[in-house]
This record gives sequence, C-alpha cells and structure tokens, in this order.
Amino acid sequence: MNVAEIFGSNVFSESVMKERLPKKVFDEVMHVMKNGGQISMASADVVANAMKDWAVEKGATHYSHWFQPLTGITAEKHDAFITVPENGKTLLQLSGKQLIMGEPDASSFPSGGLRATHYARGYTAWDITSPAFVKEQAAGVILCIPTVFVSYTGEALDQKTPLLRSMEAINEQAMRIVRLFGNTSATKVIASVGPEQEYFLVDRQKYLKRRDLIYTGRTLFGAPAPKGQELEDQYFGSIRERVGAYMKDLNTELWKMGITATAQHNEVAPAQHEMAPIYTTANIAVDNNQLAMETMKRVATRHGLVCLLHEKPYAGVNGSGKHNNWSIGTDTGENLIDPGDDPSSNLRFLLILACIMKAVDTHADLLRQSSANVGNDHRLGADEAPPAIISIFLGDQLEDIVEQIVKHGTADAAKKGGTLDTGVSFVPLLNKDATDRNRTSPFAFTGNKFEFRMVGSSDSIASANTTLHAVVAEAFCDAADILEKSTNFDEDVKKLIAEYMTKHQRILFKGNGYSEEWIEEAARRGLPNLRYMVDTVPALTTDKAVKLFEKFNIYTRAELESRAEIMYATYSKSINIEAQTMIHMAGKHYVPTAVTYTTKLAQSIAAVSSVGVDSSVQQELLNDCTVLLKRMKEALKKLIADVEAVTKIQDVCEMAHAFHDIIVPDMVHLRTPVDELELFVDKKEWPVPTYGDLMFEV
Ligand code: ADP
Ligand code: MG
Repeated sequence: MNVAEIFGSNVFSESVMKERLPKKVFDEVMHVMKNGGQISMASADVVANAMKDWAVEKGATHYSHWFQPLTGITAEKHDAFITVPENGKTLLQLSGKQLIMGEPDASSFPSGGLRATHYARGYTAWDITSPAFVKEQAAGVILCIPTVFVSYTGEALDQKTPLLRSMEAINEQAMRIVRLFGNTSATKVIASVGPEQEYFLVDRQKYLKRRDLIYTGRTLFGAPAPKGQELEDQYFGSIRERVGAYMKDLNTELWKMGITATAQHNEVAPAQHEMAPIYTTANIAVDNNQLAMETMKRVATRHGLVCLLHEKPYAGVNGSGKHNNWSIGTDTGENLIDPGDDPSSNLRFLLILACIMKAVDTHADLLRQSSANVGNDHRLGADEAPPAIISIFLGDQLEDIVEQIVKHGTADAAKKGGTLDTGVSFVPLLNKDATDRNRTSPFAFTGNKFEFRMVGSSDSIASANTTLHAVVAEAFCDAADILEKSTNFDEDVKKLIAEYMTKHQRILFKGNGYSEEWIEEAARRGLPNLRYMVDTVPALTTDKAVKLFEKFNIYTRAELESRAEIMYATYSKSINIEAQTMIHMAGKHYVPTAVTYTTKLAQSIAAVSSVGVDSSVQQELLNDCTVLLKRMKEALKKLIADVEAVTKIQDVCEMAHAFHDIIVPDMVHLRTPVDELELFVDKKEWPVPTYGDLMFEV
C-alpha cells in the first residue's frame, strides 16, 4: 500500500481546488477561508460544479450536507445529482445554491424548545473552512459537504456553529496578547486539537446476542470474568491478528478521507484500543473525529466485529475516553503554549499560562459540563479516569516557577530536564522532559499543549473545545484590557501574572487525582465536584456563563437554555432506554433461566434423594438460587413501577434528577442478583455471552 498515494484521495482539498478551479475563483475561496466573509454566487456555482465533477469521477451518485446536530452524532440526507429528465436523459448537477444552503426537514432534531415543531425550518450552510469529501459506503459514494445547522431565526442547532464562533473569539483575543508583545507579523491565532480516541471491539455474533449492547452500547448485566486487566498485560501489548486487520482497514479508510490516523495501540482493558491522528485546526479536528468514529463502526462490520464507543461498556474494567490535546498558535507557526528554553523569562508564555489558570479556575464548572454525557457518569471518578473535579497539572518545572512567582513576584531560572542514564553502557544518554506525566489529571500540561482528558469516548469534542476557547478568550480579553492601557508594560505584565497566579493557584494539583484525599482537599479549596451529568447542567445558564458566552457571541441565553433542556431530556431518555432494556432482559432471559435452573436442581434433588444419597449440596444451591430469584423479581417489580412513575413527571429537570436518583439505583439492585446468579448457573444454560466471551474472544 502506498500511503502517500491514497492519503487524502477522497478529499476535495486545496490542491484539488487549485487544479480544478479558475485562478480567480480559487483565490476568492482561499481568501474567504482565511479571512471569513462571503463567496459570490457566481463563484459558488463554479466551485459546486467542480466539486460535483470531481465527486462523480470518484463514483459519487449523491451529495449530502453533512452536519452535527445535538444528538452527538452526525446527520446526513442524501440527494442524487440528477435533474428532471429531458428526452429521457438526465444531467448531473450541483448548483452554487445547493452547495451553500440546504433546508433539511429538520423538525425532529433536538432543539430544546428553540423551535416549536410547526416552525420547523432549519438551514444547513456550507462551512468553507472544512473540506468536502466523498464517503464510500454501501449506499454508494456520497459527496459530503460539511455544514453548520441553524434555525430560521439563526440560532445554532448544532455543535459546529458555536465552535466556529468560539474560534473567532479566541483568535481575536489571543491576537491582542500577541500584539502586546510586539509581534506585528502574525495575522491570526488558530486553535489546534489532536484527539486520542479509545474504543472497544467485540465479536458481532456475540454482540447480537446481547440486547443491552444493541440498545444501549454497554452491558447492563454481567459478572466479572476470571481475568480482567490486573496483569497489565494488555496495554501496548502485541495486537491480535483480527484486530490488526481491522486497524489496517480502518487506517486506509481514514487516510483516504484525509484523516491522519497515526498512533494505534492496545489500551488497558482487554479488547480495548486507541487511535490518534495528528493534530489539526480545531474545527477540522472535530469533523475528522466525528467521521473517524463513524468509520470505526462501519469498518468493524466488515470484520465481523462491532466497535463500541461507549464510555463504559463493561463494569469493573477500564472505560474509554478521549484525550483532547489542545494548543493555540499563530499563522506564522508559533505555538503560544510552548514555554521555550527558559519559561521563567518568557513573559508572554507566563501571561498566557496565568490566563489559562484563571480561565480554568473561574469556569471549572463549565469545563466539567462540556465533557458531561450519560456514559461519562460511569467513568469519571472511577479509578481509571480523572475525577469529576477540574484541576490543572503543570509538572515540576512550571509548578516551581508559579510557586516562585507567587512568593517573590518573579522567578529565577527554570528547572531543566537533564539527561537520563539507563545504566546500560551502549544506550545513549536520553534527554529528559522537564516534567513527568500525571495520568490522573483532567487538564494536564504536556510540554507544548494541554491535554483535556475528561471528554467521553462517544462524545463530540466540539463542546469541550468551544468552552475551552470561550473561557480562555475571556481571560485574554481581561488581561488585554488592562495591559493595552499600561504605560509601564514590563512591570505591569509581571504584576498581572503574579496576581492571576496567586489568585488561581488553587486550581493546580499534582498529586493522585484518583485518591480520596484529593476529593477532600478539593472541597477545602472550594473547587466544584460535579459528579454526575445532571449536576453539571445548571453551569450552562448561570449569570457567569451567560455573560461569558454572550460577550463573545458564542451562545445566546436562549441557545444555552435550549442546550440545558436537551441535556436533561437526553439523560432521561437514555436512562429510560437502559431501564427498559433491563426490564426486557430480566423478564425474558434471566428470570426464565433462573426458573429453569431451579427446576432442574429440584428434579436432581428428588432423583438423588430417591436412591438414598445425600442431596445437601443441591439443596444449598437451590436455596441460594431461590433467594436470588426472589431478589431479582422484587427488584424488577420495583424498577417497572418506578419507571412508570418517573416518566410521568412533567418538568425536564425534575425528571432527569428522578431518573438519576431513583432509576439508576433501581437498576443496580436488579443487576446485582443477576450477576451473582451468573456465577453458579451452568454456562450452557446462561442466556447471553459472558464478560469473558465478550472481552477475550475477539
Ligand atoms: P502524548 O504522548 O504526549 O500524549 P502524542 O504525540 O501521542 O503525545 O500526541 C497525542 C496527540 O496530541 C496527537 O493527536 C498529537 O497530534 C497531538 N498533539 C501534539 N502536539 C500538539 C499540539 N501542539 N497541539 C495540539 N495537539 C497536539
Ligand atoms: Mg496523550
């Protein structure tokens, strides 16, 4: 396989445009891509036609406005290129208008009250900054045009619109900081993101036997397998052939669509893996990640596998997240998060760092909210992922500098990394990083970027980055407001750095984020600990949040309120599906299995006793099973009754809380006896594949 040849072959990239567009039109597109603004209708016609010709050469039959509604996944509606036939012949066509705008009948996407169904108009509009591509699937080859999705009155109904707005905000505010330090050549600051995507693979035939996996993406029942991840033999382990074949195929598909899949390895849990691309501009990274998740699922079916993106498919083993690596840099190639050789004297870096500390501390609740989804409730705060408390890990070098600045107002030379001697004579001395890693931190500095490790594996990274851009833009804006007026810049900037670092030092934490002590310590420091998704929703609509997002035109109050409503509704719907699935599985699978098994035991007891042999073991088994069966039946009854009551609640917030407070514990009560029963029922009788079958037979 020649990677260079296939890479990007399905992307309508800059070089394809250069080749296929008249120079004038190409220049116009480039100008709008870089500086914003509108492309003329005449040029749009030319671009559309070139795009269509290119796609048709690739075998495309349809085009689609590809967008990201608030369902967390992408949406597409295919329209064939064909026009009304004349003399029995059709022309293949894509007009500028069709390229620029679409009007999906979108009344059934979540809008959180922004649109009553009778005002159903929603529009998709071309995002010229993200390249069009063709997608090869069973439905044919489809030309996908990345778009934003807004309501008739211009409110964002998607993930993309606020993200693009937030990128403009951080660009504008970061440029003010860049200018303050005398840089006159840069014209733009761009946010970059590299998301590491974790996932599980499971055999498709086994998957199809589990209603919980099918309906909810996770197992709702299941006793632990005899072997888990305790030997730590899976992480970075050699990749099994079947999984390897999948990865190879996946890479090829991703590369064709211009996605730079590079890293691949086994993760901590059995059958868990990771894929990471090379970082790119934030909105492209978001598109690419959505596309990657979709492709991961699609390719899996070809290998008789299913790709599980749920944050916690199996209880008791490592869950999946997404590490959102983030930095900002100028269009002249300078990374603003790079401390350089001596951070202690790099005032621009220190100011940016101080602003980020301020931003994360001030809006810890919002950052936590931005990474909340239903599945992440199982993952955050368990002993594998960061807790639900936001804190920053800077590493020894920078922490030392911050400490000095807080104490003395300035810092002396920074600690250096030094060299590492392995003690093996022929191994070269290695240059060490100045800081170690901290896997337990939700927001960790990793040399020249921050790694926001909280995002869930199935979630879009759009909202996390939108929030990140907003909070940092605000801190930059506050700092620039002060410093632009300064008459003694050097002194004032140092004062401001010291002030911010002192005030927001509490957000720094380098210890074990998984520990009980940290939870107590964080409470003493007054840091929010928003353990569950339902607890994070109010952060969206506080005065602080509304002021922040409205100031930078990222969300209006109405958009924030609609998102809060969608979060509550999504939570309730998801838990309801899980509860209904459990009711189904318990009623149709587990209770009948327990009944059959107890009957068999009873028959065995009768048979054994009739020949005068001791049947006490069977009797004990029968007793235990009967007790579990009874617990199961009672828990099932309670779950059914509670779900019925909870779904009658009118208020969305109240309903979501009731699902969390009443139904989730009910589900645990039903699960426990089933899992206990699994341990002693004959494997042949057990109605579904076990954890061992699912995780170790891939
Ligand atoms: P690490 O091992 O430090 O996590 P990797 O090199 O594995 O780093 O990178 C993880 C992800 O971070 C990759 O997607 C990578 O492209 C991305 N990344 C690297 N540098 C940056 C940066 N400056 N800004 C944003 N993302 C970055
Ligand atoms: Mg990493």
